[in-house]
Amino acid sequence: MKYLEEYRNPEIAHRLLDEIRDKVTRPWVIMEICGGQTHAILRNGIDELLPDTVTLVHGPGCPVCVTPLELIEKALTLASRPEVTFVSFGDMLRVPGVSRDLFKVKSEGGDVRIVYSPLDAIRIAKENPDRQVVFFAVGFETTAPNSAMLVAQAVREEITNLSLLVSHVLVPPAMTALLDSPQNRVQAYLAAGHVCTVMGWQQYESIVRDYHVPIVVTGFEPVDLLSGILSAIKQLESGQAKIENQYARMVTREGNLYAQRQIDDVFQICDRTWRGIGVIPRSGLKLRDKYATFDAEPRFGLTDLVIAEPADCISGIILQGLKKPNECPQFGNRCTPATPLGATMVSSEGACAAYYNYQRFRNLSEK
Ligand code: SF4
Repeated sequence: MKYLEEYRNPEIAHRLLDEIRDKVTRPWVIMEICGGQTHAILRNGIDELLPDTVTLVHGPGCPVCVTPLELIEKALTLASRPEVTFVSFGDMLRVPGVSRDLFKVKSEGGDVRIVYSPLDAIRIAKENPDRQVVFFAVGFETTAPNSAMLVAQAVREEITNLSLLVSHVLVPPAMTALLDSPQNRVQAYLAAGHVCTVMGWQQYESIVRDYHVPIVVTGFEPVDLLSGILSAIKQLESGQAKIENQYARMVTREGNLYAQRQIDDVFQICDRTWRGIGVIPRSGLKLRDKYATFDAEPRFGLTDLVIAEPADCISGIILQGLKKPNECPQFGNRCTPATPLGATMVSSEGACAAYYNYQRFRNLSEK
């Protein structure tokens, strides 16, 4: 198949669904890592079309959702400072901190600006040499190369009024952390195609080997997702565990080596707290020592914070695939996109937002 409409073709989708129904003989739990895939699955009704024996659970692959509360509070502190212009992707502005969000800070007079590319922060820093520009560097391996390019460009242009509040996270350590959990339900993964576009699928070889879990690199269209689910089911039914690349039109084993070098030059691996989940060892990126002057935390004297998650939001449990959003008592009641209690209801990739937007109000816990 060459064209996008072929990946949305209903006849092909129904053929794949029939094949899935033919192959399944017992219950299986498959996790799609990426929040973009979660939305695509619900938008296309794939969760409702699958046989009852196939349960899809939704993973921690939403950068907005997993940015820890401590970092949100640091962002709010920085954005409130009179000398700071705080620069962020738009979807971070509504993520609730303890008592407010970045929109609230902006409405109170904070200089908070939305950008579509990190490199816009360079332009803002050059246009405002008397201000301190801070870029909120969030996201997975997909956005880390852009943050790395921002630092490299700032070095080249000798820009000194720019820094980054870094909250980059890595997918494979989260996958192994879920598999290591005694509560784990995941029997196979659909790996996020866009992350693999950057990092390649070789990074999953050790997970498949060590945990004997099928991993299928999967895209974002209905036929991509159904092909990925079918590949996972075939492996599970036959007792196999291997990597399959269902997204070969975009992903290679090695990935984008240039982007990987950019990341590696600017960042080093560190332990990172994931919102609702806790610390996952070696699951984050921080600036290397040679770029420490770009680190907003020491530049502005931000100290470590420990903040308890709100007790009534179970997003951490949802992000681990242990419950579904419509099993949360707050879902659709106290918690809606207009009155979000957690980041998973705010984000355009959040699982709770997907269930709300696509009307999954009935309890699907039995699926
Ligand atoms: S529905 Fe709201 S309160 Fe419940 S887990 Fe989702 S974001 Fe949290």
